[in-house]
Amino acid sequence: MSHTSRPVSPAVARQNQDLLSSLPFSDTQDFKDATRGLLGTRTPNAITNPAGEVVWDNDTYAFLHGEAPETANPSLWRQSTLNAIQGLFEVVPGIYQVRGFDLSNITFIEGERGVLVLDPLVTEETAAAALALYREHRGEKPVTGVLYTHPHVDHFGGVRGVTTQEEVDAGRVPIIAPEQFTEHAASENVYAGTAMSRRSAYMFGAALARGPHGALGTGLAQTVATGNITLIAPTLEITATGQSETVDGVEMVFQMAPGTEAPAEFLVYFPAHKALCSAEDATHTLHNLLTLRGALVRDPHAWSNYLTETLDLFGAEAEVVFASHHWPTWGNERVTRFLSEQRDLYAYLHDQCLRLINKGWTGIEIAEELKLPPALENAWHARGYYGSASHNLKAIYQRYMGWYDGNPAHLWQHPPVEQGKRYLKLGGGADAVVEQARAAFEDGDFRWAAELASHVVFAQPEHAGARELLADTFEQLGYGAENGVWRNIYLSGATELREGTFGTPTVSGSADVLSALTPEMLFDAVAIQVNGPKAWEEKLTVDVVLSDVDRRFRLRLANGALTYSAAPQQGDADATLTATSRALPALATGGLSADALAKAGIGVAGDAAVLARLAAVLDPGDPDFAIVTP
Ligand SMILES: [Zn+2]
Repeated sequence: MSHTSRPVSPAVARQNQDLLSSLPFSDTQDFKDATRGLLGTRTPNAITNPAGEVVWDNDTYAFLHGEAPETANPSLWRQSTLNAIQGLFEVVPGIYQVRGFDLSNITFIEGERGVLVLDPLVTEETAAAALALYREHRGEKPVTGVLYTHPHVDHFGGVRGVTTQEEVDAGRVPIIAPEQFTEHAASENVYAGTAMSRRSAYMFGAALARGPHGALGTGLAQTVATGNITLIAPTLEITATGQSETVDGVEMVFQMAPGTEAPAEFLVYFPAHKALCSAEDATHTLHNLLTLRGALVRDPHAWSNYLTETLDLFGAEAEVVFASHHWPTWGNERVTRFLSEQRDLYAYLHDQCLRLINKGWTGIEIAEELKLPPALENAWHARGYYGSASHNLKAIYQRYMGWYDGNPAHLWQHPPVEQGKRYLKLGGGADAVVEQARAAFEDGDFRWAAELASHVVFAQPEHAGARELLADTFEQLGYGAENGVWRNIYLSGATELREGTFGTPTVSGSADVLSALTPEMLFDAVAIQVNGPKAWEEKLTVDVVLSDVDRRFRLRLANGALTYSAAPQQGDADATLTATSRALPALATGGLSADALAKAGIGVAGDAAVLARLAAVLDPGDPDFAIVTP
């Protein structure tokens, strides 16, 4: 217990206790599956980077065993206990997984000469440690191929821990990925990257102590490793369902599933093993349709349809399904039931949400009222540990209807600070509103207590009583949350109210990821930094010449907007920059000063002063922006 944590309230303790009798805790099949085929563990588990810093340590979750304490939702406790099981496991002879070494699983498929690696974790340190554990038990096999199921960082970031650019360039190690992998891997970090990273800190709970009063895990896995994120571009793109590839004697049949859990994604079937990798489209949680760090809304309709296709393609034959998170499911009957229930879960949420939208319900109402069928409610893998029915239903509303709920009273509301001031006036001042919030807290109505106390904090951020009560309220909401991410978010909010901002403690980008950005994405990255009002009166043009690929772009700043074109342009630009593709990322990250450009090897011709004028209107994002305070 950290010095600031408070004990559980009677209301949350009771709610947590009640879950023990309403959910099927006597069903322990998941524990059998999560430990099946264990070949060995890494003990102690701590993994360090070359500087000796710990980037991952699953041993910090050793507190997760036995019955849940009062400060934890017992369903989340159970899920976290399962996710904290680490080691090398045999899925079937020839297919092995290392689990509990990062946010994701790494899978090894043995070939004739060596071993294929599927989804090499987040960082090169954790991936290398996983490969070492595999080799300790299965021999010094060379890596003969790598697969990325989709472009989220936990499925490619550790690639340099299992192979090298030289091996790939020499054609000895193909890198297999779904089409459009690289542009999606890179683009997520460009447009809203700073904000997503800041909010990821809340979501993954990086700044939280781990323990019964702190972080328990994300529900998808425990947390994310903090080592070096790498990327080697794919050399073999998968473009069609039914496409079959054989690498090192291993036959693989692919199913494309773009626009599901990721914009580019494939599932892959190994016929010789009767083993299906469901990537991240069927896991032991209701997944996110809208991840709470912020993202574009995903498509539950497509997701469900693709799982129907998965069943049609492989359901008759598959004897095991494994994913890049959680543990496998064995036996054809259980495999098809698992995939069918996952399919029905996304279909049900989608269809029922639209049914109610068409009756005039809003997202917040649907999320409150819609219940899952009992069979899905009692299926452990369908529960909301990472996604939740609540925030997913709001996401479906958002996907189809947008932020406006149709009520004119909500079309033009005051922003939070102005709302706060008016609520305080309504409630008879800050102290009186805090008293009302405290009464709601005592009644166990933490949602209302949070709303009231948050109005006070936004109107009067220095009000110590309001901050303290809001922190205590968030903490109780965290103690009661079944969703690992909700718990992290609430406890992060409480932590920042008590101790101040923790900013963005984890890095999301890296040199490898930046170098995968297209020139257009890099220009976009500059354009979104232009401070509009400051640039209203600026007018300038800059040509960017990419010497190695013989391309030329005209960048134009006018009316506060930086736009670009690759078409031939009239007249000369004010200045011309000459760079190689490799050097170009420095434009977006290193600044536009003469020194910075020279250091990056970017040549300048023409009127260099326009670059200073452009630099003067750039206004980069703030990785420390406030969330729970104005
Ligand atoms: Zn993942």
